[in-house]
Amino acid sequence: MSSANYIGRLAPSPTGLLHLGHAATFWTAYQRALEHHGTLLLRNEDLDPHRSKPEYVDAMIEDLAWLGIEWTPPILVQSQRLALYREAFARLLASGFAYPCTCSRRDLAQMVQAPHEEADDEPVYNGHCRPLVEASSTVIEPGVNYRFRVPDGETIRFTDRNLGPQNFIAGLDVGDFLIWRKDGLPSYQLACVVDDDSSRITEVVRGADLLKSTARQILLQRALNMQSPAHFHTHLLRDDRGVRLAKRYDALAIRSLRQQGLTAAEVLQLAARSLLQYE
Ligand code: GLU
Ligand code: ZN
Repeated sequence: MSSANYIGRLAPSPTGLLHLGHAATFWTAYQRALEHHGTLLLRNEDLDPHRSKPEYVDAMIEDLAWLGIEWTPPILVQSQRLALYREAFARLLASGFAYPCTCSRRDLAQMVQAPHEEADDEPVYNGHCRPLVEASSTVIEPGVNYRFRVPDGETIRFTDRNLGPQNFIAGLDVGDFLIWRKDGLPSYQLACVVDDDSSRITEVVRGADLLKSTARQILLQRALNMQSPAHFHTHLLRDDRGVRLAKRYDALAIRSLRQQGLTAAEVLQLAARSLLQYE
């Protein structure tokens, strides 16, 4: 691949203000695209109907511009692409990769034995609703969640361009994960692979909190006959005691720092310092 073909993306969710962690990851994504003389796209991941807010879309665009991060229009808006996600889901269903899960929120909460790992978003599912044999279907039942059947025992490997070789065991590190929600929307995992594929993303730059999601997405890409992009996971920001900076720490919102009088260069320096300290 010639480096001129590099296509990266910024994929913020408009569920809150961008914070220092986003600044670090998005700045890295921007630098990677520049170094490769590539293209950087912006994707608005607004699929969460309760938490996504138009004012956060405006705020993220303004904050990115203030930081000096440039991307190539047009902005891709996930809520306008439901037909594509539905089509990919139908393919997974038809090829036996998906099954309905009727576990309640409470059932799922009781399943979690180990304390919820801070670095993962989705606990391993115990397989309660998983059919014994793969069954294909052409009907999407409304009001039902669907999961992806992971190949138990198989090691999912990839070489991260920042963190080096990674491996995760299906069924142990990542369980059968949600791909379609009962409210008729795709999960983050499914929407992400469909969009990375249709935008021909060559490298995904994201925080290390999403490493297991990368493993899940590699399985989805395989099942959907899509090529996996390369990956570059950024370290998570820590404060000077080594504590991970929580996502919703309002004081670290880029615009709060800006209102406190910091320049964009100072915000980026602050992000870089928190990154470097605990590598
Ligand atoms: N929208 C996701 C987030 O804000 C990131 C998605 C990604 O990089 O794949 O956490
Ligand atoms: Zn279930």
